[in-house]
Amino acid sequence: MSLIVALLLSFILTPKPVLVERAFFVMGTVIEFSLYCQNKEFCNEAIFEAYSEVKRLDDMLSNYKTDSNLSQVNSHAGKGRIKVPPEFIELTGRAVYFSDLTDGAFDITVGELIDLWRNGQQKDNMPDEKVIKRTVSECVGSKKISLYPREKEIELKSSCLSIDFGGIGKGYAVDRALKILKAKGIESGIINFSGNIYAIGSPPGEEGWTIAIRHPRMKDEALTSIKVRDMAVSTSGDYERYFEINGKHFSHIIDPRTGYPVESVPSVTVVAENATDADALSTAVSVMGKEKSIETLEKLKRVGVIIVTGPKGNLSIYKDSFFKGFEIPEPDSH
Ligand code: AMP
Ligand code: MG
Repeated sequence: MSLIVALLLSFILTPKPVLVERAFFVMGTVIEFSLYCQNKEFCNEAIFEAYSEVKRLDDMLSNYKTDSNLSQVNSHAGKGRIKVPPEFIELTGRAVYFSDLTDGAFDITVGELIDLWRNGQQKDNMPDEKVIKRTVSECVGSKKISLYPREKEIELKSSCLSIDFGGIGKGYAVDRALKILKAKGIESGIINFSGNIYAIGSPPGEEGWTIAIRHPRMKDEALTSIKVRDMAVSTSGDYERYFEINGKHFSHIIDPRTGYPVESVPSVTVVAENATDADALSTAVSVMGKEKSIETLEKLKRVGVIIVTGPKGNLSIYKDSFFKGFEIPEPDSH
């Protein structure tokens, strides 16, 4: 009897978890935290610590900030080794791994190509074919990066090599923020950094977080949704960022092997165990296309992909076998 009373009392006295939602502007976009905690102050403290870490990474990895480690590394290209923080080595190492895995479809050394296309947009003039070709052969390729993890040094072996973490950095920041939240004891919540999501545990009383995947052609509409817990979900779409030259839209994702923007894929979603991998892979799938992506991702464990192709009104959704058992309601019409 007394056990029942004790259990009842503890149920009544244990406060219901509160949901705290905060958003910050960083890395040129918005990071949103939605966490469940026993009290608001605890959540706020955890969120602020996680955000501070993301801010620290922005100061390190930004290619807009002239005093960032990345800007220093890029301006040291072709001039030998340079010291960098351990996170810089870790992230670059992971990026190089994905470059190898995808036969160069994903490559953080696209920096110089991005500049070419951005300049093209500013001048409303297509980049010159010969310049693109020369840039690809001289200024692109992860093989031109040497990492020295023990010495915490990096060397860019061509003077025009330029690293751009745009395809992987936000995912990495999510993983670092997650580490802090977990150390604080957060067991339920969502981090959403501009399409790079990590779902921690599940909302109280539920099996997982329902993540809606945006319709690439209808703003504010969901195309489909998935339910996940303790997984990262990253979506790359052609609907938010692009280069515009002579009234034509070009994808912001460049094929590092040709130097040209990829034929746009309306939307790619990758589910993986960490947000760094999900981010890199969603960008890589946009370059590799459906068949090659399926073949490449089959080699990886606990990775799932949803690829949306086709024109408006006739979109087709491919989901790989990873999603068997996940709750994915089919939309009535695409
Ligand atoms: P995401 O939105 O994660 O797909 O990343 C796109 C960003 O990654 C672009 O805006 C570029 O900064 C960078 N990027 C473009 N093409 C590539 C590529 N092939 N490999 C790696 N990063 C890329
Ligand atoms: Mg990405």
